[in-house]
Amino acid sequence: MTIKLAVLGHPIRHSRSPDIHHAFAARLGLAVRYDAIDVPPGEFASQVAALQAEGYRGLNVTLPFKEEAFALADTHTDRALQAEAVNTLSYDASADHWVGDNTDGEGMVFDLTSLRGWRLAGARILVLGAGGAVRGVLGPLLAAQPQAVVVANRTVSKAENLVAAFATVAQEHGCTLNAGGFTDVQGHFDLIINGTSASLSAEVPPLPSAVIKPDTCIYDMMYGAEETAFNAWAAAAGARRRSDGLGMLIGQAAESFAQWTGQRPDVRGVLAQLRGQ
Ligand code: NDP
Repeated sequence: MTIKLAVLGHPIRHSRSPDIHHAFAARLGLAVRYDAIDVPPGEFASQVAALQAEGYRGLNVTLPFKEEAFALADTHTDRALQAEAVNTLSYDASADHWVGDNTDGEGMVFDLTSLRGWRLAGARILVLGAGGAVRGVLGPLLAAQPQAVVVANRTVSKAENLVAAFATVAQEHGCTLNAGGFTDVQGHFDLIINGTSASLSAEVPPLPSAVIKPDTCIYDMMYGAEETAFNAWAAAAGARRRSDGLGMLIGQAAESFAQWTGQRPDVRGVLAQLRGQ
């Protein structure tokens, strides 16, 4: 029987999720239909109900519906509760309810550690941005037990609010967690993660370039055919190790796919396949 899955967003035209999930399914010999559905604002809940009636059992959720998906879910995983946003809905037919999860952070940590081989335990990490993506990844990032995390954002109060919300989690993992603005950033970082959407408009947050050292690992959550604006800037400042966020996208998709099908897909193979396209 074909497993019916979909991603809901607005806009959704450029989503790579159907390619990723179909590639997972092909490698595992599973019959999967994965649709990209453009949902007009205000119609998210009715669209989910219609898909449930049509036999869809797994849904990914992207901008701008992650908070609505959180509100719609009947139960939540711990990481969804931490993120206050849901990117994965799984229909539990026996209980007739939707389970909400957030796999973004797991996807990013998998990419950083398993695919890139970058060490997070004991690391000093600078995270740029304080929007939905950063909120989604902070829990799994702190769980990897870095020594220190600094969250810097254009609107400093948003970074401060995020840091306050995750203070206890940071403490549990023995990590110091601080907030600030871009121009205040100083010191040495092993890893800098760009979780702002500045690269979408080819902009770069105004960080002092002195924070970039040749051995600083650079990770931009954005991805594309060309090197992102942030990674190009970091390269010009001397950073040798850089990655975009395509591995994170495939990593989060793999977590969702495993929940829906009970089978763990080949992330490395699919990443190589998509990079080759
Ligand atoms: P949000 O709209 O929730 O947040 C945007 C963030 O970017 C805010 O912190 C905002 O600052 C900051 N920002 C926007 N424009 C600029 C600018 N010109 N200069 C500096 N800072 C800026 O977006 P998301 O958090 O959902 O997404 C952020 C990025 O992460 C996007 O590029 C998205 O594509 C990527 N992403 C990648 C994923 C993956 O799987 N690879 C998954 C999810 C997201 P302020 O608060 O001041 O407005």
